Amino acid sequence: MAKKAKRKAAVKARKRKAKVEGPRQRAKADAEASQGALRQWTNAEIEEAFRRFQAANAEPKTELKYVNPFTLLVAVVLSAQATDAGVNKATPALFALADTPAKMAALGEAKVRDLIKTIGLFRTKAKNVVALSQILVEQHGGQVPHTREALEALPGVGRKTANVVLNAAFGEPTIAVDTHIFRVGNRTGLAPGKTPLEVEMKLEQVVPAQYKLHAHHWLILHGRYTCLARKPLCERCIIADLCQWPGKTVVQK
Ligand code: SF4
Repeated sequence: MAKKAKRKAAVKARKRKAKVEGPRQRAKADAEASQGALRQWTNAEIEEAFRRFQAANAEPKTELKYVNPFTLLVAVVLSAQATDAGVNKATPALFALADTPAKMAALGEAKVRDLIKTIGLFRTKAKNVVALSQILVEQHGGQVPHTREALEALPGVGRKTANVVLNAAFGEPTIAVDTHIFRVGNRTGLAPGKTPLEVEMKLEQVVPAQYKLHAHHWLILHGRYTCLARKPLCERCIIADLCQWPGKTVVQK
């Protein structure tokens, strides 16, 4: 590019960036992105982004600690509106006493409540964990069911939790959309959508089959450690050149 044109592009980028500086502007840009304000990635851009995610981390894993499908299910239920790190502090003591539905049901609500009291919404979560354990014993032979329908019928288990369990415990290519994936899907231009379900459906459509199994973890880790809500670390972002978000802090070349 000629010098003049380069300078013009840099000025344009700086102006665009200036418009979305500060938390309020960034929140506005996020809201606009979820309304479809940005160009959606082409198939080639999607392929390239996932190629890079895979090259950077071939086997991404959930950060929740668990020892079997049941403890994964419990950990995911406990992680609603809480951090994985906070859940991981409480669960080793809980799982040492109860790593099966029968043991959890026998432990009882009061004891479970006491063991998870450092986690937000612990009263409701203790109730749900014991209730779902009883259902697993009574209706599923003490096993975690493999179907979305049966999982979503359990207390405290919604679509997102069912998707995480199906993916991490049973190796199904489901994509659970949490707050991080919702943000990344919208900001980048990968999968814009007004609701988590819309973003999930879009991801279902556009993520190439060979990347589907790990897409959930790549996107969640990207949102958690790089594409932060308030101050994204665009300087170290491996998909910065592809990202469509006007609030990104690196100048488009
Ligand atoms: S460039 Fe910035 S805003 Fe875009 S995906 Fe990367 S971290 Fe997020």
